Amino acid sequence: MARTLPYADMDKILSISKRRGFVFQSSEIYGGLGSTWDYGPLGVELKRHVKEAWWRSVVLDRDDMVGLDAAILMHPQVWVASGHVENFTDPLVECRSCNRRFRLDHLAEAAGIEMDPANPAKSLEALACPDCGGELGDPRQFNLMFKTFMGPVEETASEVHLRPETAQGIFVNFANVVNSTRKKLPFGIAQIGKAFRNEITPGNFTFRTREFEQMEIEYFVKPGTDEEWLQRWVQSRLDWYVEYGIRRENLRLRQHGSDELAHYAKDCYDIEYRFPWGWAELEGIASRTDYDLRQHAEHSGQDLTYFDEETKSRYFPYVVEPSGGLDRGVLAFWLDSYDEEPDGEAVRVVCRLHRKLAPVTVAVLPLSRNAKLVPAAQDVHARLRRHFTTQYDDAQGIGRRYRRQDEIGTPYCVTVDFDSLEDHQVTIRDRDTMHQSRIPIDELVFVLQDKVEHGW
Ligand code: ATP
Repeated sequence: MARTLPYADMDKILSISKRRGFVFQSSEIYGGLGSTWDYGPLGVELKRHVKEAWWRSVVLDRDDMVGLDAAILMHPQVWVASGHVENFTDPLVECRSCNRRFRLDHLAEAAGIEMDPANPAKSLEALACPDCGGELGDPRQFNLMFKTFMGPVEETASEVHLRPETAQGIFVNFANVVNSTRKKLPFGIAQIGKAFRNEITPGNFTFRTREFEQMEIEYFVKPGTDEEWLQRWVQSRLDWYVEYGIRRENLRLRQHGSDELAHYAKDCYDIEYRFPWGWAELEGIASRTDYDLRQHAEHSGQDLTYFDEETKSRYFPYVVEPSGGLDRGVLAFWLDSYDEEPDGEAVRVVCRLHRKLAPVTVAVLPLSRNAKLVPAAQDVHARLRRHFTTQYDDAQGIGRRYRRQDEIGTPYCVTVDFDSLEDHQVTIRDRDTMHQSRIPIDELVFVLQDKVEHGW
């Protein structure tokens, strides 16, 4: 199979995105709101399928995992205990000439300068504003949490934060989950949900935004087994991205240096993807020790230890946290699937998304809008839509419709033609091989289910 390397540039993806309805600029008719995006009719299905693939892999297919859906708004003490109020900051610098603001660590990285976190101002000496070359002001720590007020009175006592990560919703429910499920160590809790960070420099499309979705796991283990579980999770999460179609050579693991580790972390690996602008983080897998449970136990006064029946002892479990960004995952799967191949004089654009991730799984295409064909095609569509994400398309010639489905990654097209009216069979066309086969309509659901599950 021809695969264009390197993968799509952003312009191609942005063009398909708007034209076909994957992602739109938020509030576009009002000129847009900086770096916020809305998922359109195709984007929402792609995103949903990525969530489903993740949930199946980390919750439904395992005995040692359960799910959770915690509220976005949490008690203010949660963020004091977790360290976010004090430490969830980025070093902000402002240009004295053009007043644009930047993250100092990003400027240092781009200039190849090692930043000393203890003395960020030192790295300033070698830096200037990347936009106008102006002098940069002194760095200050900027807290990334969004604040809002609970109830009608805007006073400090009613101040709450929009969660900057989903993880804390899991930690504060640790005892609830243990008591209600009787889970024994090692076990984990998974959650998908929105998180909010007032990023200083959002950008690169959906890669860095101020509102995004995370897919996070807190995996609780017996202290001493955490290193082993960290390695297992790193491998398992890396394999997941490859299983769902990202080329291995476009993924890499990067272990954090000791100066880079978050205040709670003992060890951490980033899974990075080779985005068009360079390697960047898709997911972080951190060994968090018992930091969070201890902090919440201390601040809430509740017992958050675990009773180990084998050793008849109580202790705080250690935690391994695979924390991925859904929007970044969606973007990476999509970018990596983009392909172009010669098609006579033209070019066939094919999005080779994994069959379980593609926004539309099956397209039903009547050969024409002939009055006899339409009811038969609609009947086929009605049978399929109960089982798959489908699309019915009868506009323009069949060749064009195939190309339209290729561009959005539809793995299977079902064509209803005049023979179908006689032999009650339809043609299934495969996106990647363009191979076509005739299948009895009565067997269609079963055949397609088999294909989706196992491929050709
Ligand atoms: P970065 O270094 O890129 O700012 P981070 O290390 O702060 O990311 P984590 O706190 O580890 O990110 O969050 C876990 C995951 O959440 C990241 O791997 C990423 O996929 C996603 N994520 C974090 N911040 C954003 C954002 N602003 N926009 C989109 N996704 C994000």
